[in-house]
Amino acid sequence: MSRDHRIHPLFREQDGELAIAGRTATEWIAAAGGRTPLFVYDRAVIAAKIAELRAALPTEVGIHYAMKANPMPQLVAWMAGQVDGLDVASAGELRVALAAGADPAHISFAGPGKRDFELELAIGAGVTLNIESAREFARAAAIGDRLGKRVRAAVRVNPPFDLKASGMRMGGGAKPFGVDADKVPALLAEIAAEGADFRGFHVFAGSQNLSAEAIIDAQRKTLDLVADLAEHAVVPPPLVNLGGGFGLPYFPGDQPLDLAAVGEALGKALAARDPILAETRFVLELGRYLVGESGVYLTRAIDRKMSQDEVFIITDGGLHHQLAASGNFGTVIRRNYPLANASRFGAPDAESLNVVGCLCTPLDKLGDKVMLPATEVGDVIAVFMAGAYGLTASPTAFLSHDPPAEMLA
Ligand SMILES: *Cc1c(COP(=O)(O)O)cnc(C)c1O
Repeated sequence: MSRDHRIHPLFREQDGELAIAGRTATEWIAAAGGRTPLFVYDRAVIAAKIAELRAALPTEVGIHYAMKANPMPQLVAWMAGQVDGLDVASAGELRVALAAGADPAHISFAGPGKRDFELELAIGAGVTLNIESAREFARAAAIGDRLGKRVRAAVRVNPPFDLKASGMRMGGGAKPFGVDADKVPALLAEIAAEGADFRGFHVFAGSQNLSAEAIIDAQRKTLDLVADLAEHAVVPPPLVNLGGGFGLPYFPGDQPLDLAAVGEALGKALAARDPILAETRFVLELGRYLVGESGVYLTRAIDRKMSQDEVFIITDGGLHHQLAASGNFGTVIRRNYPLANASRFGAPDAESLNVVGCLCTPLDKLGDKVMLPATEVGDVIAVFMAGAYGLTASPTAFLSHDPPAEMLA
């Protein structure tokens, strides 16, 4: 069997099975009380990603974890000690971040529809708000006055460019996110007039990008943009969040992002930055790039049947836990995530199988004609690349099955 390059090398074969952090799939399922489906997230894979990033990035660039990729509380608590800050996008995520013991001074809160109670929680805790509109800032300022707290405000800018070739574009053109660049000077004047604590800028131009060239281009444009906008602020920006968008090779034929090229170009761009940014700290906010490869979704085959000349393996999992693998989360053409038979991880591929979930909908497909070892009822199927936007981005209520278990390895 030639190993699928999308399966992280830390996932190995042991006693014929897939092993995660030295325990076989059978042992993980036993540890979860015998429950399948089960997500296992391997901290060693995340630590390796963070180490690669630190080695590739210029030293003045920190790493923030965008929690929406995977908000499992235990994982977040561990992440808080590995990265330089957490980015949250709701009061729910903020509560998890605070309970994890993360320093509020290194938490930022973005999101276009922050409600008053969310602003209150964030301002009360001393978290930085990434301000998404002038009206939102006015509401935050009023809440700050009422609480007797100085609002920590960064401006999220809707950049006049986008991150080309992205899975999801979040900048350029008319967008609900951030403040159009031409309206930022007026907002900065408001922030100064209110006496808020200006923390800097946040520019997020897109997600799931595998092109170093596109990311380098967006980072350069971001540095130029924030240098221009900084002219209108009372103080130079203490922090600039350069966004992220680093993608993962989910599908056959995808080439991994050339991280070394990105790091090198960013180093050069920072060395040549406008002097107004001389004292600024920079961060990248990454979600999937940090945690995506760490997750394995384990689901058990409960039936095997033929329909015409095709074999179907029917599992106890499905799109209600792993929407992205079914191809229904932000992809145009459905392609297979990397899959394996975890019970026979060492065995050679022997047959072409359709691996489906247990939901009554044709959308519930985990693997379309994938080559796997001869697979029997009771075998455990592993879906890799399940660490980001798995459980958290799936319609768990659809079909009313029990939620899956989650474990941190
Ligand atoms: C979703 C999101 C992220 C994380 O995106 P990934 O593709 O998981 O890295 C980062 N920043 C903002 C503002 C986001 O909305």
